[in-house]
Amino acid sequence: MSTAQNARDLFRDLTGGAPAGLWSAPGRVNLIGEHTDYNDGFVLPFAIDHRTHVALGLREDGRIRVVSTFDPVPVEVDLADLDALFPTRRDEVVEWARYPLGVGWALSTVANTADVPRFPGVDIAIASDVPVGAGLSSSAAIEGATASALDDVWGLRLSRVDLAQAGRRAENEAVGAPTGIMDQMASMLGKSDAGIFLDCRTLDTEVVDLGFAAAGLEVLVIDTGVKHAHSTGGYGERRAACERGAEIMGVAALRDLSVADLDRARSLMDDVTFRRVRHVVTENQRVLDTVATLRREGPRAIGGLLDASHVSMRDDFEISVPELDLAVDTARAAGAIGARMTGGGFGGAAIALIERDAVAHISHTVTDAFADAGFAAPHVFTVHPSAGASRDA
Ligand code: ADP
Ligand code: MG
Repeated sequence: MSTAQNARDLFRDLTGGAPAGLWSAPGRVNLIGEHTDYNDGFVLPFAIDHRTHVALGLREDGRIRVVSTFDPVPVEVDLADLDALFPTRRDEVVEWARYPLGVGWALSTVANTADVPRFPGVDIAIASDVPVGAGLSSSAAIEGATASALDDVWGLRLSRVDLAQAGRRAENEAVGAPTGIMDQMASMLGKSDAGIFLDCRTLDTEVVDLGFAAAGLEVLVIDTGVKHAHSTGGYGERRAACERGAEIMGVAALRDLSVADLDRARSLMDDVTFRRVRHVVTENQRVLDTVATLRREGPRAIGGLLDASHVSMRDDFEISVPELDLAVDTARAAGAIGARMTGGGFGGAAIALIERDAVAHISHTVTDAFADAGFAAPHVFTVHPSAGASRDA
């Protein structure tokens, strides 16, 4: 059964009726540009053909109720109470519900209106086929779908960029995960067979033709099943190292450095901070090179940039894990054009750009290698660059 239908069914279970509409937003794969977003840098993600669906209906009493196939216990609060809950009392809300409720809260501030408490209440049923915690941004998908639905039924008429910002605010402040804006922008702005080249400082975007379909290429996702947790641990530590590096170099953000500045950086900071800085600076350059290479030479020419990105994350930023390294090395040895871990790291998924007729061979080879290494079986599947958030019914 389709995920949209699951959302509809869940809505009926919750309310006994049919929803006023259906909305959806995709997860994303970041083709290249990892940990550059919060350094004001460049990224090149694409929206994928896995989506989170929201079935929404209005209610009379000014309350917001959310339920998800992820956790079928509904959570319900007064719209008027959202402002008191977030961010200070967010612990009172079960974590998954902070995403959709946080979006409702954030829309009030992005919309720059005090009207939200007077908006109609809503029932929201959520179903998704975006794998959770795999680095494919199920979080941006739930935010994007919820934001699109609320924007419509509340008549806010916000831009897609504003909706992305509301999603980010929900994630940062209502959930408490210190992430950048990339995922939400990709989920809101995605286009078929195209990437979203995003300048995270200005939020300028360009749609960049990937040409994978025309070239007969596939993107293989190898979900290692190793779970990461954004709200704790290494992610925040990496952000802190980047801020330290920028401060030492006297720039607002690492985006303001170029590869030519790295010699000076090495002489000014400890080795660990330097390697964190070097990853971000070289990764930014790789994003620019990838966009230029796609335009000049087409997608088969970007393999080396994907490979180099992985090495930089493994050795300089130190956010890979043995499962991700094995996925990347095996895919490459089995004929991938290029491969890298994708997402925040410490688990999640790797991607490999491969010929269409190599999907079965490379999938099997990677799965076998995991078995040989004694790792849990990976979840291996293809994704296709797809359209961003939409109203579907
Ligand atoms: P990722 O975005 O890489 O999948 P995150 O840790 O950023 O991983 O976000 C995953 C969290 O988002 C889940 O643990 C859950 O709290 C929330 N979430 C994602 N999708 C759904 C969903 N369909 N229903 C409810 N909560 C969801
Ligand atoms: Mg996420």
